[in-house]
Amino acid sequence: MTDAPDVGELTPPNRTLMGPGPSDVHPRVLRAMSTPLVGHLDPSFIEIMQEVQDLMRYTFRTDNKWTIPVSGTGSASMEAAIGNLVEPGDTMLVPTNGYFGGRMASMARRAGGEVVEVDAPWGEPLDPADVEDAFETHQPDVFGFVHAETSTGVKQPNVPELTAIAHSHDAYVVADCVTSLGGVELRVDDWDVDVAYSGPQKCLSCPPGASPLTLNDRAMDKVLSRETDPRSWYLDLSLLEGYWGEERAYHHTAPITNVYAIREALRLVAEEGIENRWARHLDVARSLKAGVEAMGLGLNPEPDAWLPSLNAVRVPDGVDDGAAIDYLLEHYDLEIAGGLGDLAGDVFRIGCMGHSAREANVCYLVPALGEALEAQGADVDVDAGLAAMRAEMAE
Ligand SMILES: *Cc1c(COP(=O)(O)O)cnc(C)c1O
Repeated sequence: MTDAPDVGELTPPNRTLMGPGPSDVHPRVLRAMSTPLVGHLDPSFIEIMQEVQDLMRYTFRTDNKWTIPVSGTGSASMEAAIGNLVEPGDTMLVPTNGYFGGRMASMARRAGGEVVEVDAPWGEPLDPADVEDAFETHQPDVFGFVHAETSTGVKQPNVPELTAIAHSHDAYVVADCVTSLGGVELRVDDWDVDVAYSGPQKCLSCPPGASPLTLNDRAMDKVLSRETDPRSWYLDLSLLEGYWGEERAYHHTAPITNVYAIREALRLVAEEGIENRWARHLDVARSLKAGVEAMGLGLNPEPDAWLPSLNAVRVPDGVDDGAAIDYLLEHYDLEIAGGLGDLAGDVFRIGCMGHSAREANVCYLVPALGEALEAQGADVDVDAGLAAMRAEMAE
């Protein structure tokens, strides 16, 4: 047998996280995570569950009773949404304009659904007219779209228009709100979204582990009247209802520490006020955008599809994106990311999420990015970038 490995104390580098997630965690959330464990059926924990659900409803802007943290990362709440709502034989309409629409398709197929697509290029939002056409052609039972596409930095505008199209065809709407919840305007009830899911480590600035999910009664009725059980036992909402609903009976052990964490993260949202929080993300991202644009870099999406929480900045000609990303990590302990899929090599993805959405972070990032590009001989005007960034901050 091997000897005991000689593993040193855990000393991760102290990064500034401005990539596509995770974002910097608020110190209060880290503190909440170091508080003592209680049992998952402890009366004190039942109270905490209630508080988390109330805070989550506030953040989603919904009165949905079925609002819970799903154990796992954003993909777990995503699979809980799709795996429960889509029944074998159902048709789900998904978008092709980014990485996460593709993941929706995989999950719908695994649930036994048939997948049909509505097309838009990577870097552009869906056009409601195309969604209408797809409904006419395929009559899907479920329509999924990505509100904030982290792979392309695109925010889907006209959400109420999309949900109205789906509902006029008696379909259910599932919205991926992983990179919008708590950072970008999102109104689940007013916009008539049937099912919305999110993750903790984007605009909520909480470590991954417990992921927000909300379903309205109409969607939950479909889930509870399924003819066949969903394929996942762990994510079966009819069973999770026993724990998160009135009964509070054991299904699986809740990730207690992650529930503490999201409680504190959501408490920070409530303290700030959800609308103030949306405004802060917008203001800080505007300074970032002004800075990079004045430096000579372009943002990839059209202005009406710009996603403040994830800025897709075009890589200048002749620059190796990977080398610039490595430069920032090495010299500044600063994390940003490159493009995915159709945009690989074409954009930097710069997050402006939650606790990372601060002016101080933008002041740190803009000159550092400029330096990383200049190190490769790119023609950028860092001084102009800084001046525009400061002017925007003074607005
Ligand atoms: C991050 C992300 C997910 C998946 O979340 P994980 O926490 O990585 O499982 C899903 N959708 C979007 C839009 C995301 O940004």
